[in-house]
Amino acid sequence: MVEKVIPIRLDEGKGLTPSIPGQLMPASASTRDSRGRPLRDLRISVTDRCNFRCTYCMPKEIFDTNYPYLAHQELLSFEEITRLTSIFASLGVEKIRLTGGEPLLRKNLEVLVEMLAKIRTTSDQALDLTLTTNGSILRKKALALKAAGLHRLTISLDGLNDDIFKKMNDVDFPVTDVLDGIAAAQEAGFTNLKVNMVVKKGTNDQEIIAMAKHFKGTGITLRFIEFMDVGSSNGWDMSQVLPSKDVVARINAVFPIEALEANYPGEVAQRWRYVDGSGEIGFISSVTQTFCHECTRARISTDGQMYLCLFANKGFDFKTLLRANKSDLEIANVIMSTWAVRDDHYSEIRGSNTAMSNTRKVEMSYIGG
Ligand code: SAM
Ligand code: SF4
Ligand code: SF4
Repeated sequence: MVEKVIPIRLDEGKGLTPSIPGQLMPASASTRDSRGRPLRDLRISVTDRCNFRCTYCMPKEIFDTNYPYLAHQELLSFEEITRLTSIFASLGVEKIRLTGGEPLLRKNLEVLVEMLAKIRTTSDQALDLTLTTNGSILRKKALALKAAGLHRLTISLDGLNDDIFKKMNDVDFPVTDVLDGIAAAQEAGFTNLKVNMVVKKGTNDQEIIAMAKHFKGTGITLRFIEFMDVGSSNGWDMSQVLPSKDVVARINAVFPIEALEANYPGEVAQRWRYVDGSGEIGFISSVTQTFCHECTRARISTDGQMYLCLFANKGFDFKTLLRANKSDLEIANVIMSTWAVRDDHYSEIRGSNTAMSNTRKVEMSYIGG
């Protein structure tokens, strides 16, 4: 049973408002944090709401009708998100992931995608624009997202057995509708689709082989995610984590697999492929094999707070800066100076139990997964 704690957002959703450095420097992609890591990826949470209540993310007991979701005026507008993203792009960010909550619940999201698709990187390329969704309304949205310029899609699905999946999403949502969303994405022309499966030991680990079998040979990359201690409400403990090495062993026993090189430094998933040539699978081992040393990601919450780590307990309030008419260069300087002192490496220092860390962390639905 999860203890009821409200509110989840820290500082009433307000981060620290950073001050503008006295001397402004030109925007530069060469800023490194205190551990030598550049800023290359940005995850943007476009809504803190969701139509699922996945037990590991937005448990019903807490995310009920009394939960203090953000009011519309607190959300960054599409114009504000686009402006902030273009400033991040001027600082070397190349990859954007739209997330949430359930991003497709944000009205007219394709309009935002179209606006972001026009932004160029420092090497005059389009941004790598991706989105993570639970797939529930993808059938309605896939074509519009593709037409708007979205490059890639990741769909979350925690099993093929309806009873197990419904128990995890906790809103009785059937597997077939997510599979139909995936089919819609393929019909709309998305290639290189990824499917994320969070593995909770004793809850859905019996689905691992069925999921591997289902997606093997389809061109869709299935990725197994270790259940993480994100937020403060999902009742995480180490006994419910099935280490990726055990998932690898289980799959390898049925369908032989071999490890591949990473595509690029900082890649979150470890890549493997089926020895028979029927495609790739991935493992995101945030608990047992940490990758903080090459973490190049910043996150923007739904209300415009920048977080330097998924497990951070403090954000930096960029909404206030945007709404105070600060210039792009001033905001770029705030990002550079904030990034320069970043020291976050939570996964390398987490205890075996969230309670041991003794700090409240922001919820994933607010900060973006
Ligand atoms: N609603 C969308 C979805 O579910 O795909 C996007 C937001 S969700 C927070 C992003 C990703 O985080 C999903 O793939 C989800 O399964 C994963 N996630 C959420 N809580 C998690 C946890 N406690 N441990 C590991 N992954 C988690
Ligand atoms: Fe919603 Fe995604 Fe969290 Fe599930 S994981 S509750 S679909 S935001
Ligand atoms: Fe990056 Fe924080 Fe995750 Fe480490 S724990 S990989 S620093 S987001």
